[in-house]
Amino acid sequence: MSYDLVRGMNDLLPEEVAWWRLVEETIRDVARRYNYREIRFPIVEYTDLFTRGIGEATEVVTKQMFTFPDQKGRSLSLRPEGTASVARAYLTHGLQTTAPFQKLLYLGPMFRYEKPQKGRYRQFHQYGIEAIGSLDPSLDAEVIAFAWTLMTDLGLGGLSLRLNSIGCEQDRAPYHAALRAHFADSIGAMCDNCRRRYDDNPLRILDCKEETCRPFIGTAPGPVEHLCEECAAHFAEVQALLDRLGLDYTIDPHLVRGLDYYTRTVFELISDDLGSQDSLLGGGRYDGLIESVGGPETPGVGFAGGLERLVIVLQERGTALDPERVDLFIASIGDNGRRLAFELTEKLRSAGLAVEIDHRARTLRKQLALANQLTARHLLVLGEDEVASGTAKLKEMDSGEERDVRLDSEVLAAELADDRRGSE
Ligand code: AMP
Repeated sequence: MSYDLVRGMNDLLPEEVAWWRLVEETIRDVARRYNYREIRFPIVEYTDLFTRGIGEATEVVTKQMFTFPDQKGRSLSLRPEGTASVARAYLTHGLQTTAPFQKLLYLGPMFRYEKPQKGRYRQFHQYGIEAIGSLDPSLDAEVIAFAWTLMTDLGLGGLSLRLNSIGCEQDRAPYHAALRAHFADSIGAMCDNCRRRYDDNPLRILDCKEETCRPFIGTAPGPVEHLCEECAAHFAEVQALLDRLGLDYTIDPHLVRGLDYYTRTVFELISDDLGSQDSLLGGGRYDGLIESVGGPETPGVGFAGGLERLVIVLQERGTALDPERVDLFIASIGDNGRRLAFELTEKLRSAGLAVEIDHRARTLRKQLALANQLTARHLLVLGEDEVASGTAKLKEMDSGEERDVRLDSEVLAAELADDRRGSE
């Protein structure tokens, strides 16, 4: 009997991991330049953190969480996103008093019980940044600039940035009233979810994807029309800073995003290459989140993006990956050759080189085929003559050039390191 993969979860074989490493290394490099430091937190949290942090009425919380009791009956959930956990960690470690301003990066698996399709999985991976402790619009602009820099470094085009401001807590009531007035006549013809949202949180109606609802949503007023003076000024400054950087964006008056904690700035980066699951990343400001999970009033802004989607876009764009090459392959003939090859391989690995031999004791022809498959930079073939003389021909695979070398690990390590420096 063999086992199936759990639906919506993926294995990543080494060829695929090479893409992930490219993306992860690029993210870490951008984070270094922007001074966002990595934080790691558990995959499991008390369910309540997400219910209170993300919002009781959100799709993520009502339908998508993997929730289960622990041995003592406490409700735990696999994390569906990272921001609530970052807020929890901030408070757990008392950062609000010791180091209230934080710029943090995280990467890791998230879990949502969604209908799997291309670009949407039940275990997926997010990278995200969070800047906590300041209301300054320069941070909103910085996290957006971070996202653009990352895309530029990865060589990605065909992207559009959608931007909006949904205002603060105080702006909600007048905006909700305006939305209810707008939908008052049409709500009877709209879907069940929207009818429920009409009473609970009419802002959520703007997120509805149902065909029957879309026409009524198209003409709805945007939150920007109902911003208080402070929020309007904040949004204007975010735009002014983005304009300074020459960053292209479109104001999308109906962009509200799916999680309840957002306030003021919200944004999303969309890719032409992703089909229906076209959102590469999304984020915004969450000035009420830390308070809602039990901390003092603390502003924050950030975004999260899907690693799977970045990898898909890179692959579809035909981005070339550098092959992972070994520095040396040592082929051998006979027992003495094989033992010497084994010993030299170990010593050279200790000296920092990537070296491989054939562990399946096969013909020379098959060993050479393996050397090619591994795109080895150099080749040694050790037979009885080489063992006896203590020298062999070191072949540089790309040029085909050969030179005599002593079969001494220190000499060889120096030769190979020289060659590697020359070819870089
Ligand atoms: P969200 O946390 O919903 O704002 O999502 C932020 C980003 O995470 C999205 O733009 C996607 O790139 C990615 N993402 C969200 N849900 C999934 C999923 N189920 N599978 C793959 N990627 C996802």
